[in-house]
Amino acid sequence: MENCIFCKILAGEIPSSKVYEDEAMLAFRDINPQAAVHVLVVPKSHFATLAEMDEAQAELVKQCFVKIPAIAASLGLENGYRLIVNQGEDAGQTVHHLHIHILGGQAMGEKML
Ligand code: 5GP
Ligand code: ZN
Repeated sequence: MENCIFCKILAGEIPSSKVYEDEAMLAFRDINPQAAVHVLVVPKSHFATLAEMDEAQAELVKQCFVKIPAIAASLGLENGYRLIVNQGEDAGQTVHHLHIHILGGQAMGEKML
């Protein structure tokens, strides 16, 4: 997808700090971390929100969630972690390619949820 920063990262056109990759997803460190560990899991298909997702894309998202425990373990998050999937403007979604935030490495404390 033109002008999508995550599609450019998936295509290798923009560098990222990769933590995991397979045929369904790429996981890399957020450029502006909001926790001690902040990784984005990005399915290898462009769509902005769950409302726009087709069946094939839903399969990729399923694979992301199946793999996240192993990714979290590889990041040392045995004490727990938070997942966030922002959907649209009110949620503050800034990159319109669906992605799952993994946040951890510290107690989340007073943040929302
Ligand atoms: P959103 O607010 O859309 O849920 O999250 C987008 C996330 O992408 C933000 O946390 C932001 O820091 C991250 N991000 C934006 N551009 C880049 C980039 O070029 N590289 C990396 N690694 N993360 C990015
Ligand atoms: Zn994209």
